Amino acid sequence: MQHLKDTFKHKGKRKQLILELAGMGVKDQRILDAFDAVPRHYFLDTAFEDQAYSNMAFQIGAGQTISHPYTVAFQTELLEIQKGDKVLEIGTGSGFQTSILCELGAKVFSIERQSELLSSKHVIHFLNYSPKLFFGDGYKGSPLNAPFDKILVTCGAPEIPQELLKQLKVDGIMVIPVGEGKEQKMLKIMKQSETSFTKEEFGTFKFVPMLERTVNNKK
Ligand code: SAH
Repeated sequence: MQHLKDTFKHKGKRKQLILELAGMGVKDQRILDAFDAVPRHYFLDTAFEDQAYSNMAFQIGAGQTISHPYTVAFQTELLEIQKGDKVLEIGTGSGFQTSILCELGAKVFSIERQSELLSSKHVIHFLNYSPKLFFGDGYKGSPLNAPFDKILVTCGAPEIPQELLKQLKVDGIMVIPVGEGKEQKMLKIMKQSETSFTKEEFGTFKFVPMLERTVNNKK
């Protein structure tokens, strides 16, 4: 874990990114502070270290990407995270979004379908966060740990998984990019009762697809 060093250069670049995110409309200061506290370069291959604070997505192995910082900030803002919220994340990937949620004081449960990516736990633990990480199929959620105050899907879902709606608390919020093709609409779903939901749409984003079944590719 040689690259887990946070230098003045990294810190300076991080401040720049935070200014950029604020300029793009991220208003919640707690989220901007969380971006300051979680060094994004720890989650990337050393080859990309210098660009870790540009507003870009990167390959993280197994054909997957770490989301754009703006997308992470945007989804987090829609979730209205409160300290102590029980949050289910689908798609741990690099673990960067997981760490941002932990930094905000959420109790995080995160599911990843590709075993290779579970190595992200080293960085998460190095930062002293302790989310519950699972290898599994996010379509099924985590019935044993349900219900959740918030559910965050970080891959593009062809439709809203009904099982996840069931695992959301009444008054809970689910943020999910939904769409069949390469682009998805960002939806914020609020559960008003066991059977009624409101849905708001927040622009178009590009995520890697949410796929069914698990892939055990751990070497
Ligand atoms: N939150 C991540 C985003 C990674 S990209 C980050 O901050 O880096 C989306 C991730 O969703 C990928 O790692 C992909 O493997 C995972 N994924 C796709 N379909 C899934 C499913 N059905 N269940 C769980 N994870 C899934």
